[in-house]
Amino acid sequence: MRKLDTRTIVVASHNAGKIAEIADLIGPMGFSAKSAAELRFDEPDETGTTFEENAAIKALASARASGLPSLSDDSGLVVEALGGAPGVYTANWAEKADGSRDFAMAMQKVEDALAEHGAVTPESRAAHFVSVLCLAWPDGHTEMFRGEVAGTLVWPPRGTSGFGYDPVFQPEGFDNTFGEMTAEQKHGWKPGQTQALSHRARAFKTFVETCLEA
Ligand code: IMP
Repeated sequence: MRKLDTRTIVVASHNAGKIAEIADLIGPMGFSAKSAAELRFDEPDETGTTFEENAAIKALASARASGLPSLSDDSGLVVEALGGAPGVYTANWAEKADGSRDFAMAMQKVEDALAEHGAVTPESRAAHFVSVLCLAWPDGHTEMFRGEVAGTLVWPPRGTSGFGYDPVFQPEGFDNTFGEMTAEQKHGWKPGQTQALSHRARAFKTFVETCLEA
C-alpha cells in the first residue's frame, strides 16, 4: 500500500455533486485540491465494465495530465431486482438525446423497471450504492477503496438535497431518503469517527485509514 506524502491533489471528476461531497470530506484533512473540471481536463471515456476500471481510467488521466496524485470516484446504484442494473451505467440512464442529464427521468426509468418486475414491497426494492475511489500517481501506480451502503428505493422521490438518485434512496435503518438529509448526515465524516453513512464517505474513510495514517 503506497502512502500519500503530499496534501496537494486533483479531484479527478467533472460531476459537481461528487466534487462538492469530496471537497467536504477532504476539507478537514488539510488538502489543497482542484478538480479536473476546474483545470479544464478532458473527461475520459468510461469504457470499463467495473467501477474499479472506470475509477482507474479517470484517476490516471488526471494524474498524467496534472503531474499530481489524483483521486477519482466511480459510483452507481445497484438494484437487486434488476440484476444489478443500472450499476456502472447509472449515469447513462440519465442521458438525454442532446447529451444532457436528467435525473428525474433516470429515477422514473428505474421505477418503471421495478414496476415491470412487480417490485412493490420494500424488500423487493432493495438496492445499494457503490463508490470506488481510486488514487492514482503520475507514474501509473493506483490504490482503490470501495464503499457501499444498502437501502431501499422509495416512490415518489422525496427531498431536494444531494444529487443524482438521492431522492429515491432510503438507507437501511433511516426514515429519510438521502435527498431529505443534510450533507453532514449523508456524507459527513472526520478522522476518528467510527461510522460513515454514504458509500462515498465509507470509501473515503478507508482511503484515509490506509493511505494517510501511519
Ligand atoms: P459515474 O461514476 O460518473 O459513472 O456516475 C455515477 C452515477 O451514479 C451518477 O450519475 C450519480 O447520479 C449516481 N450516483 C453516484 N453517487 C451518488 C450519490 O451519492 N447520490 C445519488 N446518486 C449518485
